[in-house]
Amino acid sequence: MLHVTCDLCRKEMCHGHDHRYVVKIEVFAAHDPGKITEADLDEDHMEAVSELLREMEDNLDDPDLAEPIYKQFRYDLCPECHKKFLRDPLGKGAEVRLQQKLVSRLQDSPDTGVCSGGLGITSASRRCPAERTL
Ligand SMILES: [Zn+2]
Repeated sequence: MLHVTCDLCRKEMCHGHDHRYVVKIEVFAAHDPGKITEADLDEDHMEAVSELLREMEDNLDDPDLAEPIYKQFRYDLCPECHKKFLRDPLGKGAEVRLQQKLVSRLQDSPDTGVCSGGLGITSASRRCPAERTL
């Protein structure tokens, strides 16, 4: 029997036996077709095209600029992860949870916090550097 693994929780699902869900994500640059103006018609298009080609050649060396314009992702999800995904497709909750965790950790242990106590930093050196130079 063919097994499929949930891409989120790694749970194994039997093909054709367990319920599973497929998530497909398409990412592409939004393109707003601009209006054609008089200036566009007067423009030297051959010049513009060759400039564009030159830029594209330059960008081939730069991995950041050579990002694919279109990208597609496909994930298999088990029913539980499918439910979670539908509630929060962009994973915004995870970010908020992480922030809450960090905040509560700082509040729980004020004595062992990063900016005081254990590191032996005195209250004078904790002042803003700009404040001290004044
Ligand atoms: Zn899962």
